[in-house]
Parts: sequence; structure tokens; C-alpha cells
Amino acid sequence: MTINQQTGLYGVLGFPLTHTLSPVMHNAALTALGLNDVYLALETKDITAAMTGVRALGIKGLSVTIPYKSEVIPLLDEVDSLATNIGAVNTIVNREGRLLGYNTDAWGALAALEEVISIGHRTRCLVIGAGGAARAVGFALQTKGAGVIIVNRSPDKGQALARDLNCDFLPWAEEDRAEAEVIIQTTPVGMYPDIDNCPVPESVLRPGLTVMDIIYNPWETKLLGLAKSRGCRVINGLPMFIHQGGAQLRLWTDLEPPLALMRATVEAALGVGRH
Ligand code: NAP
Repeated sequence: MTINQQTGLYGVLGFPLTHTLSPVMHNAALTALGLNDVYLALETKDITAAMTGVRALGIKGLSVTIPYKSEVIPLLDEVDSLATNIGAVNTIVNREGRLLGYNTDAWGALAALEEVISIGHRTRCLVIGAGGAARAVGFALQTKGAGVIIVNRSPDKGQALARDLNCDFLPWAEEDRAEAEVIIQTTPVGMYPDIDNCPVPESVLRPGLTVMDIIYNPWETKLLGLAKSRGCRVINGLPMFIHQGGAQLRLWTDLEPPLALMRATVEAALGVGRH
């Protein structure tokens, strides 16, 4: 691609951004769509100053990641109702100077699950965790009428999310009482370098269960390895990452994202198939 005076700018705001795969994914997509735009890692320790810069420079759209997904909300002109309920924004669209906030993690998680299982009324889904990702997953599942049950290490945070979702809460390590058809693991337990830990007791993993771990480093977490060996259907964190990115591109450009190319690009960056 050629960078010239008309090149538009997108980026990701967060700290730290050392391992982010968003630039590699979005630049591949923007190029494939024939757009004269680039996407950069915009690491910042000051989100308020960064947002002043976004307005001053006319940055066209942003991803927002840890630790700013909640902090950015009061700095926006408008936030859609799903992101407001979740309490986190991971996508900003600059519409003629007005900054609009959305949460595409929710749609990403749902689209990833629906690649292998149809989520409908009464699908019993156990969500492990009660942080930002769990909130996005919980609200997304409820848009489909699924039955959600929350398990979290800190009961107060887990109960608060269960209250917001008007759903059940189970204490940590009591997951087997949920009798779920789907488990969605949203904590960092099992993520590199903590690769020998599994946040779910093995006894919960029975054949026919669908288990999604939203971590994708390592490619197969301890949880997913155990789940596979016990006859569960497994999904790692990559499909969610690709679909949340695809939803961002749709919001920014109104174009259909090249999902297969985005997935292949990120897999290549992660070295999938080389190990
Ligand atoms: P967060 O808001 O900090 O929440 C973390 C959650 O994990 C909390 O519920 C916390 O429980 C729990 N937790 C943390 N350490 C734990 C431990 N040692 N044992 C048990 N529970 C523990 O983080 P987040 O934004 O939800 O992100 C969580 C993970 O999802 C990250 O690894 C992130 O990279 C990943 N993620 C992936 C995607 C994707 O597209 N695949 C998208 C978003 C996020 P307490 O309440 O007890 O502290």
C-alpha cells in the first residue's frame, strides 16, 4: 500500500500493547478492502489526553483494550445501549467529529459460539469470571434468551454481575451444580505463562458439552486439552477475537470484513501450524 496525504488513521488504545494482534489483523483487512487507511498500536498511559488527540487529529476509529474499556466511556459523545449495560466500550467510531462507543466483544463471543452450536432460548450457559469479558459474554447470551449462570472467584463481583443479568450465581468450584450445556471461560487462568492451570474442575467436563476458552495464547489451554480428551466440543479465543474485529470493521467502514483472511493472518502471526 502507499501512504499519502489522504491516508486515514485507525488504531488501538491501551497499555501495554506489546502483544496486541489487532494491527496485523486490521491492516490486512483494510488493505484487502482497498481502503487508503492504516491501523496503529497507540499505546498510552493517559486516556484523557489520548482522546483529546483523537478528536484533534480526526482519527477515524479505534479499538479500546485493557485498562481503558470502562474509563473511556465518559470521554465519548454517545454509547450504545449494549455497551452501556456491559459497562465497557471496545470500539469507537468517529462520525463527523462525534465519538460513538460500542462493544463488539459481545457479538464476537456469540458469533464464535454459533460457529459450532446454536444458542437459543434456554441454552444453559455457565460463564466463568465476572470481569469485562464476562459481562460482554453474559449480556450477549441474554440477547438470545440463553440461561446464564455466573461463577467467579470473588463472590461480590460475581453476585453483582448476576444481579445485573438477573441470573444465578454459583460460588467458585461449585460449577458442577450448573448442569450447563455450554461453558465460557473468561478469566486469565491458563493464559501464557500460567499454562498449567485450569479454572474448572475436571469433573464438570462431560461428553457433549461445548467449552469455549476466550484465551488464544496458548492455542490450546489446559482447560481445552482436558475438555477435548473428555469428549467436549472446544473453541479457543481466536474466533471471538476475529469476529469482534470483524464487527469493528463493519462499524467503521460499512463494508463486509474479510474474516477468512483476518483469521489466516492472525494464525500466521501466532505461528499456528509451525509447532
Ligand atoms: P478483567 O475485567 O480483569 O476480569 C478478570 C476476571 O478473571 C475476573 O472475574 C477475575 O476474578 C478473574 N480472575 C483473574 N485472575 C484469576 C485467578 N487467578 N483465579 C480465578 N479467577 C481469576 O479482564 P477481562 O477484560 O474480562 O479479560 C479477561 C481475559 O479475557 C483476558 O485474558 C483477555 O485477554 C481475554 N479476552 C479475550 C478476548 C478475545 O477476543 N478472545 C476479548 C476480551 C478479553 P475476580 O473478580 O475474583 O478478580
